[in-house]
Amino acid sequence: MASPLVEDEVIRVRASGKINLALRSGPRRSDGYHELATIFQAVSVYDDLEARWDEPGRFSVTMTGDQADLVPCDDSNLAVKAAALLARESGNRGLGCQLTIRKAIPVTGGMAGGSADAAAALLACSVLWDLDADPDDLLELGATLGADVPFCLTGGTALGTGRGDRLAPVLSRGSYYWVLVLNEAELSTPAVFGRFDQLRPLGGGEFAMPPELLSALIAGDPAALGRTLINDLEQAAISLHPELAEVLRAGRELGALGGIVSGSGPTVAFLAGDERAAMELSVGLATHGIGRAIRRVHGPVPGARLLS
Ligand code: ATP
Repeated sequence: MASPLVEDEVIRVRASGKINLALRSGPRRSDGYHELATIFQAVSVYDDLEARWDEPGRFSVTMTGDQADLVPCDDSNLAVKAAALLARESGNRGLGCQLTIRKAIPVTGGMAGGSADAAAALLACSVLWDLDADPDDLLELGATLGADVPFCLTGGTALGTGRGDRLAPVLSRGSYYWVLVLNEAELSTPAVFGRFDQLRPLGGGEFAMPPELLSALIAGDPAALGRTLINDLEQAAISLHPELAEVLRAGRELGALGGIVSGSGPTVAFLAGDERAAMELSVGLATHGIGRAIRRVHGPVPGARLLS
């Protein structure tokens, strides 16, 4: 057992979900990955993770929240993998932890919920175990767990290249108000990329970020941003789940400045001009019975961070 002095210690970390304002994909590479260029924005939907000491070599997780039963609680849980990896990398065999995650980020929603939990576990355990970890080392470790994990550590607004794991900051002014439509369908990322390969074997065409999108972020202009949102995976997601086209149409008809399937879906994100417009849009969508649930969020927000 760990030292009695630290047995009661609890480290709390909050991690945010993300949406992709732009997602451009090249064709499938020979290693199976797709070369991506994406602009992430972290938004205010959060998983909260607590980490406590456990016996050496024991890494466990308990999930709570509406969708907790959709997430594995064994060694395949990304937060458990992250904790075990960090312990292994530290070379200290005396480490173990019990994790508890209150899940609010939609599961398999294209919002990087699993990656957010992995990022939260890396940060929480590095503090719990007093590893004095270099943030760059955590980013590197995170990238081995999943392409979105580095962004979930940093948050804000960032350009991701490679598999989406090589990050560069993006200038962005102001806050953006989004209405998320959570959908019932399960769209796994590999399935959506598989359909993308069938539909667009040469990739998504132009790989560069639209300059108008970057200018809109610098100017803090939601109307311009709404016009330039782009996701090369959107057609693939719609072809697997055609109802998404109806959701996109409904949001636009109800006054959204723009709408986009988030990542590989099935969550759809609509941009509103301000907080009040977001409220009106969310009421309109709910009244029309669109989606499984509606959430209002804003971004950018920070990535994984310590609470208390
Ligand atoms: P992506 O990062 O590809 O956009 P997503 O947001 O669509 O992913 P996630 O919620 O991250 O989807 O879940 C992807 C898969 O990972 C699911 O099959 C889920 O069961 C599994 N998984 C493992 N650990 C976790 C976790 N801690 N939270 C959520 N999902 C997890």
